[in-house]
Amino acid sequence: MTTDMMKVRSLVKRMGLKMNRGNVGASDHTQDEYFMKLALDASRGALPGCIPNPPVGCVLVRKNELISTGFTHPPGGFHAEAHALSQVIGDLDDVTAYVTLEPCAFRGRAPSCAISMLERKLKAVVVALVDPDPRNNGKGVELLRAGGIEVRVGVLAETVSAFISPYLNMPANHSVNCGAHV
Ligand SMILES: [Zn+2]
Repeated sequence: MTTDMMKVRSLVKRMGLKMNRGNVGASDHTQDEYFMKLALDASRGALPGCIPNPPVGCVLVRKNELISTGFTHPPGGFHAEAHALSQVIGDLDDVTAYVTLEPCAFRGRAPSCAISMLERKLKAVVVALVDPDPRNNGKGVELLRAGGIEVRVGVLAETVSAFISPYLNMPANHSVNCGAHV
């Protein structure tokens, strides 16, 4: 384990992973909305294979240029974030990820997306919606922030919600919403 990850684990343990809603702020930055729209567009590619998990989209942006896109694969496959990260190499400390649903905090059958993002040293993560699943529900955001990644929440939230809400908390979805844990 790297020193960075040990630091993150220590922070997470110390925090008890409690949600700090005071840190979840909204952004109406035009650029954020533009790239979140691209992430939303990418998320449409997840349907219908991703069911019962919700269709999530993720785009990676470096210096205002789109460098990768991802979406939720069928259960057992990539989460949107992992899909996008799999298409680029090296550290991403000058890269911002835009993802329509909060990255998952813990490992299920697939690795935790929040931890994968920390390992790749992303500069920033922009999230449309906090995952309503009680097993995540802010923990992903908190984990990213604990690891030193800048996180902005609430970008294009209404538009993304209109698309993804019907797929959240589906009966067969017994795991974290961000991707394919079933
Ligand atoms: Zn995930």
